[in-house]
Amino acid sequence: MHADLERVIRLQQLEDAAEQTRRTISDEPIRQQELAAALEAARKTLEDERGHLAANQAARRDIEKELSMQQARLAKFRGQLMEVKTNREYQAMQREIEVAQHETQKQEDRLLERMIEFDEVTQHVKRAEQAFLHDQAANETERAALAAQLADAQAAVVRLAAERSALATEISPPVLAIFDRVLRYRKVSAVVPVRDGRCAACQILIRPQTVNEIRRNEIVFQCESCQRILYYENPRATADPPAPPQE
Ligand SMILES: [Zn+2]
Repeated sequence: MHADLERVIRLQQLEDAAEQTRRTISDEPIRQQELAAALEAARKTLEDERGHLAANQAARRDIEKELSMQQARLAKFRGQLMEVKTNREYQAMQREIEVAQHETQKQEDRLLERMIEFDEVTQHVKRAEQAFLHDQAANETERAALAAQLADAQAAVVRLAAERSALATEISPPVLAIFDRVLRYRKVSAVVPVRDGRCAACQILIRPQTVNEIRRNEIVFQCESCQRILYYENPRATADPPAPPQE
């Protein structure tokens, strides 16, 4: 393979790795935010469940207050029942007692409902607490992994830049100038393979004679359409000439 072609292929790999690394670094704040948001969601769920528990307890206290008031009324009416003189007073008092009994029963039912609910809500709180603790631990692990990844990426930027500079000095200046110009203009991939007789980047069909020249990888050839430097992948593995393109 042409020495410069081999080097610009490697140069492109370094550019791709550097681009990937820059993306890792620029995405880091977003990933940090995502992690913080996920933990915040777990915290919010826990707070909501604790709120339900507090509401249940407050409702229970209100019902208990109401119940003891009704129980006191009932006891009072029962005491008064002993002291009534007439049948009419007796019947009236009986009615009061029935109403108070009904109210007492109603409050007892409500209390029971709240007690059942209390058990459920307590379970929900426990589950939310466990989930939060789990998420918190996982979050810390992920943050640490993210920090390590960032440090690696920052080191890689320096290493790749040094490697690129060293490699660039070994490439003949005109070829390096083509590479730099195309990369500046196209942003990504200044060097691309030929696949199925086409430029892998712009997909233009390349003349079969030219493909045959490129397949030897002995010349630095630019795509006539996108100007990228073309090469042939695994020339040994693809020894047979490609089928002529269909018009
Ligand atoms: Zn092209």
